[in-house]
Formats: sequence, C-alpha cells, structure tokens
Amino acid sequence: MNGAAGLPMTIPRPLPRDGDTFHEECGVFGIFGHNDAAAHTALGLHALQHRGQEAAGIVSFDGAQFHSERGLGHVGDIFSDQRVIDRLKGDLAIGHNRYATTGDTILRNVQPLFAEFSFGGFAIAHNGNLTNSSILRRRLVARGCIFQSTSDTEVIIHLMAISPQFDMVDRLIDALRQVDGAYSLVVSSNDVMVGVRDPLGVRPLVIGTLDGATILASETCALDIIGAKFVRDVAPGEIVVVDRQVTRSLRPFPPAQHRFCVFEYIYFARPDSISEGTSVYDARKRIGQELAKESHVAADVIVPVPDSGVPAAMGYAEQAGIPFEYGIIRNHYVGRTFIEPAEQIRHLGVKLKHNPNRAAVAGRRVILVDDSIVRGTTSVKIVEMIRAAGAREVHMRIASPPTTNSCFYGVDTPEREKLLAARHDVEAMRAYIGVDTVAFISIDGLYRAMGLPGRNNGKLYCDACFTGDYPIPLTDRDGGTAGAQLSLLAEGL
Ligand code: AMP
Repeated sequence: MNGAAGLPMTIPRPLPRDGDTFHEECGVFGIFGHNDAAAHTALGLHALQHRGQEAAGIVSFDGAQFHSERGLGHVGDIFSDQRVIDRLKGDLAIGHNRYATTGDTILRNVQPLFAEFSFGGFAIAHNGNLTNSSILRRRLVARGCIFQSTSDTEVIIHLMAISPQFDMVDRLIDALRQVDGAYSLVVSSNDVMVGVRDPLGVRPLVIGTLDGATILASETCALDIIGAKFVRDVAPGEIVVVDRQVTRSLRPFPPAQHRFCVFEYIYFARPDSISEGTSVYDARKRIGQELAKESHVAADVIVPVPDSGVPAAMGYAEQAGIPFEYGIIRNHYVGRTFIEPAEQIRHLGVKLKHNPNRAAVAGRRVILVDDSIVRGTTSVKIVEMIRAAGAREVHMRIASPPTTNSCFYGVDTPEREKLLAARHDVEAMRAYIGVDTVAFISIDGLYRAMGLPGRNNGKLYCDACFTGDYPIPLTDRDGGTAGAQLSLLAEGL
C-alpha cells in the first residue's frame, strides 16, 4: 500500500537515538545579484563560524553552471585561497557552516547539498534538524531512492524529486509539508534563491541587502561583516523567493504559534546579532540582571566563564553592584589536538582553553557566571581551578534554567541521561560541581528577561531543553506511531 507520493505506508521500526542519529548546529548564508557573490558568502560564513566549526561549503551559479567547494575545517582554512573563490563564479552563491555531533563528519555530508533535477541544478543549506527524517528516509529507500549522504537534509531533495509538482518552489513546498522539525533553509536553483523558515520559526533567518543584491543569513552579524543593510527577519512559515526581477513572499503552511529558540539568546547566537528584533547582547545582560535579582549571594567579585558567560556576568554585576573581573583568561588559539607530555597534566583539556587569573580571585568570594551547564564537566574543572587559585568561596550562577532535556531541533545536546540536571537536583549539582552555592535562573525569570511577564503569559519560545515541552512532534524518537505523521503525508497528496 502506498501513501502520499507513492511512499509505502508501513510504519518502519524506530531508529534508536544513539550516536548514529544526526543533529546539527549550523549557519546558512546566501546572496543573489552581486558579482562578488562567493567572496561575500565566505565572509558571511566566517561571521557565522560560531554556529558550526566542523565543515563549510559554498555553491555558486554563474547563469549557466553551478560551482561547488566544500571542505572540512574552518571557513578560513577552506576559503582563504583566492583561486578557490575565483572558481566559484557567478552572482548567486549560498553557503553553510556545519557542526555535526557524530563522528561522521565526512565530505559527502558537508552542505550545501547539491542535486540535478529535471528542472535544473539545486543546492540546499539547512540550519535545524528534521525530527522525522529517519522514518522518511526508510520509506524513500524502500521506494528505491539512493541516498548520497547520511544528512537529514537529503530527505528534502528526494521528496522534491518524487513530487508530482513541476516548479522547483512547488516541489519544495510539497516536500516541506511532509517533514517535521526545525529548519531555516537557503536554497538556490537556476537564477532563483529561496529562504524558508519552518512554521514555528525555531531557527533564525534574516534578509539583508547590499548594492541591490539580496542576502539571506542566519544572523545579522553576517550582514554586518559585508556592510549589508538589515531588511527584516524571514517570518515563521514564510518562503521568500528571490529571482532576477522580483522578491516574492509565500505563506503555504497553516499558521502556527511562533516558537523561536530561547537558547539562541542564551548561548548560540553571537552577542552582536539582533534576532527577532532583540539584541542578543542586551538579552544576555538582562538575563544576568534577573539572575542577580533572583539568587544573589554576598560576594566580592563577579567572574564570567569566558566567553559565553560574559554579558550575563556584566548584567549580574551591574544589578548586584559588585565588581566584574576577568578571573578566568581564555586562550583563543586552541588548536585541535596537542601531544600530551608523557606525564599527564591534570585537566589539560580545560587548561588549554582557560587559566585562572589569581590577581582577580585570590582571597575573594567569587560568583562565577556561565550561560548553561550541560554535562557539568566544564563547571567541575573551572571551579577546581578557581579554588586552586586561592578563592575563598566559589558560587555558581547560571544564566539559564537547568538543562533537563535534549534538543532535537538543531542544537547539539547530549542524550538526556548525560545532562547533569536530568539526573540531579540543585543540591546534588552543587555537590557535584564543588561550589558553595549554585543557582539557575527560573523559567519565569528567563521570560521576564525577554520582556514578558513570565512563561504562559502570551508569547512562548521553544524552551524544550528546560521544560520538556516539545512544540514539534519527535516522530523518529517516538517511533513514528504519531498519527500526525501519516496524516501529514496524506496531506502531501
Ligand atoms: P558542560 O561542560 O557539558 O556542562 O558544558 C557547559 C559549557 O558548554 C557551557 O560553558 C556552555 O557555554 C557550553 N555549551 C552549552 N551548550 C552548548 C552546545 N550546544 N554546544 C557547545 N557548547 C555548549
């Protein structure tokens, strides 16, 4: 029996959520109508490097042909050679930064993915994670599709390939109606660039302009680097189609409640970006202020865990009226691997990156501020360092609620069992980290910092990592038993 678009209707076995599942943090960028499209894309990706450091790629189109360069490593490593940029001809280019959580960072998974369709070439760059890609993939494979990668994004290509629609954008819409998950996409096909945000708008995507060219990017910091002007955010559920003549906006999906990822403000986005009208830096400072209002303790000095804890620590220090000091110095030149001396150095991993600044902490009562605790490993080592540097008391203040649940929408978090807060209450976490006190901002405090009266008072973010309230079905994880998935497929008919 076949379902929508001829897909077999048998429900496949659920895939285990183990090291073989794929979820990615990523940055996307696209520019259309600029003679130096590839060079601008490389710069945009460089500004988005924090969203993914494993691999990067650019696909350009010169009016007749597509050109592609993809590699493992940082943007600067892959695109610093002028000859590489020169090969990426054309005034249309899209790019992608990838961070994969699995060991499978192989070149064929590096985006933009590219495919030849009956309508021409097609390139796609995806930030987010599809939550029913394993199930769709099994159905597609059963139907004879041959996958070239293990990336969740490739299901979109195959769904487009078997779509009964003719036009590229219609095929894309047809495919997206069948996927669950979080996605901000930048795609290009012959002389068309398209930007898409999933109906809930979990991941960011902004539109900019430069010398008459149109730009799509994950964050505004990628517009700043090339001197482009911010135009607006792509709206949740919106498809922006940019061609040579005109930019069109389509809204093909049923309206849904907007659920932007609050962790973008806490950790993921760059502080100099403006997401959904809010400065990430301001949001982080306000979270720090709110944290101080909720859980201040007597201390001499506020010390951020660099770099992610810095704005929240500034807000905390301002609110508490206590000096902010660089009590931990971060080495920004950490390479990938070092040969460890034969006699192993305790905590070398963290020491390569962080060193306590005795002058700021010795003999003092220190409040350490970090954005989040995931496994707790960083906190344990940092606290040990600060104590060894002579701090009299060490208190930890965390600018997010306890991370109790994994993210399935594109932020790399470990399995639930590995999250410290999933297995420990606050007192057990305090003992584990080895601090005098630890406190997390409350979920309502976080919403207050975002300018709202509290949670459940109007606007909601995606805060599933703190609340377990997953706004998009976790179809793969739940084994595809959700009827919603089948009905979505039926809708695609
Ligand atoms: P952990 O040592 O596992 O508790 O990690 C906590 C540290 O990792 C914090 O200092 C955060 O700044 C950082 N962090 C939080 N979320 C992520 C993430 N998704 N990817 C990489 N680092 C993260």
